Amino acid sequence: MILTTHILSGAALGANIQNPWLVAGLSTVLHFILDLFPHGDYLDQKSTWRDFWKVIIDLAFGLGIVFIIILFRDPAPQTILNIAIGIFFSLLPDGTTFLYLFMKMKFIKPLKTFHENLHYYKNGAPEREFRLKNNLGDIFISLVSLIILIFSR
Ligand SMILES: [Zn+2]
Repeated sequence: MILTTHILSGAALGANIQNPWLVAGLSTVLHFILDLFPHGDYLDQKSTWRDFWKVIIDLAFGLGIVFIIILFRDPAPQTILNIAIGIFFSLLPDGTTFLYLFMKMKFIKPLKTFHENLHYYKNGAPEREFRLKNNLGDIFISLVSLIILIFSR
């Protein structure tokens, strides 16, 4: 699942829940729930540092959208903080995969295995390829999150 989807859903959650601790917990759980939906990924087992530009673009795109919404909506400081917490904890599960694959932190393996097993299609399956028909769910969840975020008070 693209990071933009996780960023927008975490931000939408943060914008609507007052308690920052609850935001942190629910955002992490939400990441795992969203990963249950069938989706393609642009990184796989064979990815190397050469593919990392995709992550940068994905992060910049998702964070850029949230930044623009915050600029226009001008929410209270606590809401901005909760949005930031929602984004951070929504990205955290993929962050641990990054630490495992790229930073070779082997002790993260159990978490990485749990995370990978949640996915509907195995890594390397044609349905896990990053293409439009495999990622309609990403687009749908992103749009719903975007609407919630824009219309949050
Ligand atoms: Zn994930």
